[in-house]
Amino acid sequence: MSTSLQQLVIETFQQRFGSAPSAVVRAPGRVNLIGEHTDYNDGFVLPMAIDRASWIALRPRKDGRVTIFSQSHNESAEFDLAKMTKNPHHWSEYVKGTAWALQEAGLKLNGWDGVTGCDVPLGAGLSSSASFEMAVARAFEVTSGFTWDPAKMALLGQKAENKWVGVNCGIMDQMISAAGKKGHALLIDCRSLAHQLVPLPPKTVVVILDTATRRGLVGSAYNERRAQCEAAAKFFGVKALRDVSVAQFNAKASQLDETTSKRARHVVTEDERTAQAAVAMRAGDAKTLGKLMDASHESLKNDFEVTNDALNVIVECARHGKGCIGARMTGAGFGGCAVALVEENVAENFTKTVAADYEKATKLKPSLYVCHPSNGAEIVR
Ligand code: ADP
Ligand code: MG
Repeated sequence: MSTSLQQLVIETFQQRFGSAPSAVVRAPGRVNLIGEHTDYNDGFVLPMAIDRASWIALRPRKDGRVTIFSQSHNESAEFDLAKMTKNPHHWSEYVKGTAWALQEAGLKLNGWDGVTGCDVPLGAGLSSSASFEMAVARAFEVTSGFTWDPAKMALLGQKAENKWVGVNCGIMDQMISAAGKKGHALLIDCRSLAHQLVPLPPKTVVVILDTATRRGLVGSAYNERRAQCEAAAKFFGVKALRDVSVAQFNAKASQLDETTSKRARHVVTEDERTAQAAVAMRAGDAKTLGKLMDASHESLKNDFEVTNDALNVIVECARHGKGCIGARMTGAGFGGCAVALVEENVAENFTKTVAADYEKATKLKPSLYVCHPSNGAEIVR
């Protein structure tokens, strides 16, 4: 699929600009295997870059302007790097925002003509936005000649999304899109940004299961969870819940009110599960990884209370599917996607039976993607 998307952006570039592009870049979307709602608690996450990406075919311009055509929107946008203004809710804000953040960091940017195409579904929780930001950063690297430091680029992409686009995301999405490696997931310490590659267990694949439900009202529920986590950290006298071990939590939990205690228990145990998941993966132990994913879902459902019926049903259907090793919701919750670890040789059949079971139970049509861990943002040619 990605090869054809690469061809498509090259051909469209040729048609629109009358010559071949001088460079092609891509940056992937992502799925988080485990470590949910731990990022803003300074904790650990374990995402992998998927084989779906934002692509940009481009060639440099000398006049400080950027023009970009989006295949997804069938629309062009254009701006001057020296005079950028906000145009709320437009897809080109991700391009401007990234340019703004790079310039704020002191980088001198040259413009370009580009065509972008994306096979990360937009707005489905697989972070097409971070993939687009990191592809744009690579495009500017091509025309402006700075050196690619994944953590620095991830922070600037996050800044673009936080401060220009106005979405309060953590660092995970940009970090994995910038630093992913084929065959691997990435254990990220959200406090220090230290990151380590961990291999996917042999003979397994990751399946993303989109419930076809979208999070409504997520902003308020999300802010409420953040506030509860902050209150719990304050109670334990630490900067963030990442600094509380399971033993420390158990020793004092009875002094907390029930809701705060449940929220904190999720975060504290999820950090531990994420660390254990990385150990299991290094040992090639798919079974333990699957059990940890199952436990993560139960914790998100019962303690953090961020699942919805659709997520709970699709996870149940997945667990009944032949070849399933573990399954959980992924992302912020209240809708969106689940993720399952599945035996490679039965994955195609798994997607068919689970999709049929889910549709029967909910009357909703899910989308299932068999994914392979891919490279992070790169200059393809
Ligand atoms: P998610 O990151 O979960 O896919 P977001 O709402 O954060 O959802 O970001 C989706 C938006 O990002 C799209 O609606 C679109 O504006 C923009 N976007 C992402 N990738 C591209 C791309 N390659 N080309 C144009 N717009 C894109
Ligand atoms: Mg996003």
